[in-house]
Amino acid sequence: MFKRIIPGVLALAALLTLTSCVKKASANPPPPVVIVEPTASPSETPDVPETPVPPVVVESPEPSPPPAPDLNLVPYDGVVEHLFFHPVVAYPELAFDGDYKEKGIDDYMVTVSEYKKMLQSIYDNGYILVDINDVWSEVVDENGNAKMVRNTLMIPEGKKPLILSFDDVNYYEYMLANGFTYKLVLRDGELWSWGLDPQGNEVYSQDLDAITILDKFVKEHPDFSLNGAKGCLSLTGYEGILGYRTHTDKNDTSEEAARRRAREIEAVKPIIQKLKETGWTFGCHSWGHINLSSASTEKIKADTERWLDEVGSLVGPTKIYFYPFGARPDGSDVKQTGPSFKYLQSVGFRVFCSVGIDSFSKIKTDISAVICDRMHPDGMTLRNQRDRYLRFYDAKEVFDYENRPDYGVSWN
Ligand SMILES: [Zn+2]
Repeated sequence: MFKRIIPGVLALAALLTLTSCVKKASANPPPPVVIVEPTASPSETPDVPETPVPPVVVESPEPSPPPAPDLNLVPYDGVVEHLFFHPVVAYPELAFDGDYKEKGIDDYMVTVSEYKKMLQSIYDNGYILVDINDVWSEVVDENGNAKMVRNTLMIPEGKKPLILSFDDVNYYEYMLANGFTYKLVLRDGELWSWGLDPQGNEVYSQDLDAITILDKFVKEHPDFSLNGAKGCLSLTGYEGILGYRTHTDKNDTSEEAARRRAREIEAVKPIIQKLKETGWTFGCHSWGHINLSSASTEKIKADTERWLDEVGSLVGPTKIYFYPFGARPDGSDVKQTGPSFKYLQSVGFRVFCSVGIDSFSKIKTDISAVICDRMHPDGMTLRNQRDRYLRFYDAKEVFDYENRPDYGVSWN
């Protein structure tokens, strides 16, 4: 039993498709994307409130921590655990307000409170973050064929390696009014999130977004990260990346749209640079959050080309592909290597991540590639799979009783 797709993956399809994943196809061009750029001049930001309120700085950056002590590194060839998160809920009162998105957010997301408790518990249980790009390498065998091999990781004695990945770090439009941060910004040389609180006040924070929260946690606990590794950000492209609307819109080919896009591209570049400098890496989550189990190879090809053009051109080359909805191409990438998989491999992807009940991974023997499953800390597993996640955290202790709606749990 090494691969089972969780039933909820299909429900995630429903959530994301309904809420965000399908480009609007109406005859009328969609309304201009609301870009509230906190550092731009007012003439460039017609969408900022007429009487902006002063930014609320929730908390100052922490002082630099002492350097990590010298560590005794030992070889590790066991399972490398892999957990993935969606964006975390910053304002539960907006997320869990009884609207039609509430259930999906409850199923697939965790709240800031839960996320912080999970990180602490994962750390307390002896895990150390490693870079997914360090876990496998491509080598050429004696016959001249490229293949992937598992590297022996050198990690501090007593620690267990863990990959973290974060899906849909795009700050989709639908999320903005539903309790999530709006974008990443740079302030005083550090990454912060920016957004609006439920009262409409601007908020810069390092305590409301999965990325800045992990940055802070690693600063406070340097031994939670091997060589500064944080996580791999899984990006689509259809609403830009990292909160910046860097995508093309085939319904709006105006010069103004092109200028707006160019501004967003310039604005996101220093964010990408800062993320790279601070241990974050990037992976492809398809451009349009397409379902690879039902899309034709032609569609996958067009989608991938658009991702490489609009996202890969900004974040740089990546070998990591995160299947949207966890849906594997060609029926099954475990049992066979079909045309869609071969195509994705041919453009440079080597590590293909789905979703499952364990941190499964398998090196394929007929093509240079690794396929793997990630576990998914979220509302569904908090409510219903407490036992399976006990090695990381106890759902009973991290569950956000105060804020989550009453959908019940399978434990007591
Ligand atoms: Zn996704």
